Amino acid sequence: MAPIAKVGGLGDVVTGLARTCLLRGHKVDIMLPFYECIQKQHISDLELITSYSSYHDGNWIACNAYRGLVSSIPVIFIEPSNQFFKGQSVYGGSYNELEAYLFFSRACLEWLQVTRIQPDIIHVHEWQTGALPLLYWDMYHHLSLQKPRLVLTIHNMEHYGECSQEQLSKCGLDGSTYGTVDKAVDDRTIGHNPERLSLLKGGIVYSNAVVTVSPTYLNETLCSGWLASSLIRNRNKYSGILNGIDTAMWNPATDVFLPAKFHANKTEGKRTCKRYVQMGLGLASEKGLKNGNQVTDKVPLVVCITRLVAQKGLHLITHAINHVEKLGGQMVVLGKASDVRVEREFEGLANLYNQGSSMRILLMYSEELSHMLYAAADIVLVPSIYEPCGLVQMIGMRYGAVPLVRKTGGLADTVFDMDDHSQPEKANGFVFEGIDEGSLNSALDRAFSYYGESRFLCKSITMLLTMFSSAASLTRSLLHAGPNEWRRIVRKVMEIDNSWNNTAEKYINVYNSIRVR
Ligand code: ADP
Repeated sequence: MAPIAKVGGLGDVVTGLARTCLLRGHKVDIMLPFYECIQKQHISDLELITSYSSYHDGNWIACNAYRGLVSSIPVIFIEPSNQFFKGQSVYGGSYNELEAYLFFSRACLEWLQVTRIQPDIIHVHEWQTGALPLLYWDMYHHLSLQKPRLVLTIHNMEHYGECSQEQLSKCGLDGSTYGTVDKAVDDRTIGHNPERLSLLKGGIVYSNAVVTVSPTYLNETLCSGWLASSLIRNRNKYSGILNGIDTAMWNPATDVFLPAKFHANKTEGKRTCKRYVQMGLGLASEKGLKNGNQVTDKVPLVVCITRLVAQKGLHLITHAINHVEKLGGQMVVLGKASDVRVEREFEGLANLYNQGSSMRILLMYSEELSHMLYAAADIVLVPSIYEPCGLVQMIGMRYGAVPLVRKTGGLADTVFDMDDHSQPEKANGFVFEGIDEGSLNSALDRAFSYYGESRFLCKSITMLLTMFSSAASLTRSLLHAGPNEWRRIVRKVMEIDNSWNNTAEKYINVYNSIRVR
């Protein structure tokens, strides 16, 4: 949940969707593990509300439930008295993550049972809470919980919650009864000894509605991947709803992290943000510094803000660093790797490039810096191999950064190429299809030519102008290059509404379609 326990887009979605539902008059409580890494100063009115016990592996574990407000949204924090959720980060503590989330799934239902609260909807996310629908229908529904119905949102199908029957039994269910095709068996392991379970598949089978995070990803998941057959069997309850962004948290007109505010009709503040970041990161060249503002506008700044994992197109990110440098642009990568080998590779790149004055590779997670980079950026790069939805391109647009993306999943639903003349009204960025470096190069080349200041392309255009003036004007009009054209694109992307206003209603329709009246 952003900002207190955020690793990627899921955190933004939980906060943004909850806020929009609250604004529409629904009652919402978010339930979270009380991760030790949560900074308590972000929680207001924190109070202990219930002390109770929940089952795990033959024991009843004492738990405290706290209530508090995070960014005005009510949250219930479940804190077990054992080692679960201890550590300095949301994931990767020294406890067994699978067991911790099995425990959490049951502890949420146990809390509803002891407090006699019966919500209309329990909305679970990802494999971590995939066992909750099993626990609900096979245990708590036979106890006191009658009313709730279940929605599962799948944010990323690659993480499917691999689990043995014995591990599932630790939450009190009989794991041996779930190893069938119509329940939770991982279909790929059928006939193996032992077969495995998937908590995500169990969640798909046992939830009343299943949602994934964009219409294109919905189609992709129905066509490929081992879960496709389960999703096809459950097609009537499976839908794709595009994520929105939380426009209260992501608002360049009010953003407390920015040195200057701006909005679509008044973009001067964006220049200040760019200059601030260039100076702060030592990006502006000596010459540029002497010339004051000039360097800010002449050199396009590309940013890439990402978890550094294979899904995000690591080879394309490293290639972009190279190509942007060749084109005479500037680039900042803000990324955090969870894999040591990836971290080493990017550390190597950082050592190589951070000495110069045009590239910065910052290997960390920083919410504050991410806000400043979105505000400073001319181009936001998202070269993902697959991308269920992607929020980075939407946040970038809100901050006036033109997206340059690979055409996959939610990126294909939100970014439309400037040179696709079949739907000019939608055009809002640069799109490439291949996973090869040449495809990325050509999109970067086109973006730089639109920016109109790429030294390389400008030189080519100038040469053309000198050589064949009529051909050159044709080239120019084809390229649409020039700062005014760029300003028009920036304004256009800032005006696009990617907020939850557009899609929260679809979730509310799903809730209404399954709730018991
Ligand atoms: P995913 O959920 O796969 O990580 P999304 O594009 O849906 O990708 O969401 C990513 C979110 O995480 C965005 O809010 C982005 O700004 C943020 N983010 C990613 N990496 C970092 C980082 N290193 N520092 C700060 N924020 C980051």
